[in-house]
Amino acid sequence: MVGRTEARLCVTAAAPPYHASDRARSLHERLWVADLHADSLLWGRDLLKKGSRGQVDVPRLIEGNVALQVLAATTQSPRHLDLERNDHRTDDVVLLAIAQGWPPATWRRLLPRALHLAARADAMAARSDGRLQILRTTADLAAYEARRAENRAITAGLLAIEGAHALDRDPANVDVVADAGYRMMSPSHFFDNAFGGSAHGVTKGGLTDLGREMVARMEARSMLVDIAHASPATVDDVLAMARRPVVASHTGLRGACDNTRNLTDAHARGVAETGGVLGIGFWPTACGGDDATAIAQSIRYAVDIAGIEHVALGSDFDGAVTVPFDATGLVVLTDALIDSGFGDDDIAKIMGGNVRRLLLDVLPDRPRSTATG
Ligand SMILES: [Zn+2]
Repeated sequence: MVGRTEARLCVTAAAPPYHASDRARSLHERLWVADLHADSLLWGRDLLKKGSRGQVDVPRLIEGNVALQVLAATTQSPRHLDLERNDHRTDDVVLLAIAQGWPPATWRRLLPRALHLAARADAMAARSDGRLQILRTTADLAAYEARRAENRAITAGLLAIEGAHALDRDPANVDVVADAGYRMMSPSHFFDNAFGGSAHGVTKGGLTDLGREMVARMEARSMLVDIAHASPATVDDVLAMARRPVVASHTGLRGACDNTRNLTDAHARGVAETGGVLGIGFWPTACGGDDATAIAQSIRYAVDIAGIEHVALGSDFDGAVTVPFDATGLVVLTDALIDSGFGDDDIAKIMGGNVRRLLLDVLPDRPRSTATG
């Protein structure tokens, strides 16, 4: 059941192998590639095995020369998702939880779902023979890079949460998810919740008092606040109070593709002003088309608005959308960026260099902050 659902929803427009120029292949091999959003933990696949569904698993990440994949936990998803208006009353994730035999605690509450998905990622890393490492600290990143300098057949994940309803309405649970290894979280996903409004919600409000407390607690725990899916009012509120870099993990820009999910130029500039990055999405309502050229055009627009240091990739692989290629095909995007006139150094920043710089800047240096307070 879960496999059929994934195959139906997570569509790859063109199957591998992918064609790219020799110049793109030689450049791509030298890049540190990072992608800020994939929902691969949700579908129950063993990510250590190369799959025939979806777009991401460890073998495909390694084949695509991906150094870092952000793995997001979706904990509640309304039935019949709609870009404009959804509420919290239905939930398809519970069906996945029961079908996959997740612990009973996950059936009614959302925090156990987030903890279960983090544990799944850790369990896969533990039996990966070093091929998958989950990064939690700058020390982890340094150790991973030292290993990868010797052996390119390894990759890394960073854990994220899509929608703070995963905290079961208690901002103190920021500590619980940070302790579990989560390093990024968006206030909302497809519906308004106790912390903030969604771009696809009913009232689309801003951060609530609980939401402000959550943002402050996230910053104290070195978690990145992600404004993907946030309502414009929530984006305003996050940018106004942020003291640390803010990201939009997977997004489009209205100037390149105009709909309620995508960011205005002012919001894109606001993210850049915090020192954060914009992960440009690969699906049609993010980038405005169905191929690598459309993604490259949205990236060009984002660079013109936010600056070359603040643009990154946010594929939404395995996110119930249609994307032009799987993780093995990222070289096709490198090729499209060359065709768009970007130089090698700029392509290196967009394809992952900016994310690497950000993580070195924001990740905690130890697993748990022992600072006072
Ligand atoms: Zn999403």
